[in-house]
Amino acid sequence: MNRARTPFIAGNWKMHHGGPSGVELAIQVARAAARVPGVEVAVAPPTLAIPTIVPECLEVARQLGCPPIGIAAQNLHPAASGAFTGEVSAPMLFAAGCRWAILGHSERRQYFGEDDAFVAKKVEAALHSGLGVIACVGETLDERAAGRTLDVVLRMVDALVPAFGRAAAGAVIAYEPVWAIGTGKVATPKDAQEVHAAIRSRLANVAGDVALRTRILYGGSVKADNARELLAQPDIDGALVGGASLEIGAFAPILQAAYELSA
Ligand code: PEP
Repeated sequence: MNRARTPFIAGNWKMHHGGPSGVELAIQVARAAARVPGVEVAVAPPTLAIPTIVPECLEVARQLGCPPIGIAAQNLHPAASGAFTGEVSAPMLFAAGCRWAILGHSERRQYFGEDDAFVAKKVEAALHSGLGVIACVGETLDERAAGRTLDVVLRMVDALVPAFGRAAAGAVIAYEPVWAIGTGKVATPKDAQEVHAAIRSRLANVAGDVALRTRILYGGSVKADNARELLAQPDIDGALVGGASLEIGAFAPILQAAYELSA
């Protein structure tokens, strides 16, 4: 963690907590976030739950006198509107109170056939609409075994670079090795740091200030017991958390670890 960049912890709920349990969890996260000033916190609920969750979180922030947590979309369509059955656009999400979008998650790439070019279009659309972006990159187990980790990850980063070069602090990269997502297998802090440093130096080829300001999160089986060691790495600026974001008892200690390291 580098104190020049605000630590960022985001919870990706995936297709969980779409109803009242999501409202309850978001309120708990908003309260926990108030206890870790200086750590930016976001959650990505299922789309349907967003309009209910946004005002609840704003109310907690108002009562506690702290900044509201960010609400993130898990996906969006690059067009602002049109004949795209089943899709939701960036301006619609922004109007509903979303301030972030997780884009290019490996589950979207793997199950919904999203390629680098399509992810880049979504990133452009989100940034254009005022949403911050958490753009995910990462290699599969086969790619790692074949020694292709950096080739794959940097290819994905290159696709994001044109949009990121024009964005301010709202453009975040999440390095998420696919083999570590939801598996309980976590990259060693040293391996994760190596990839994060490579991503940052790739961004530096584009513009030094982009590399310095872009936050790079680690994602993949982050839990209370491994968060501190990962977050202590100089190029790891936070975490994108799946399974451990689904219960406050598992998520709050990760926020606390980020807080203690940044204090
Ligand atoms: C994710 O899906 O973005 C993720 C990191 O999941 P998990 O923490 O469960 O591995």
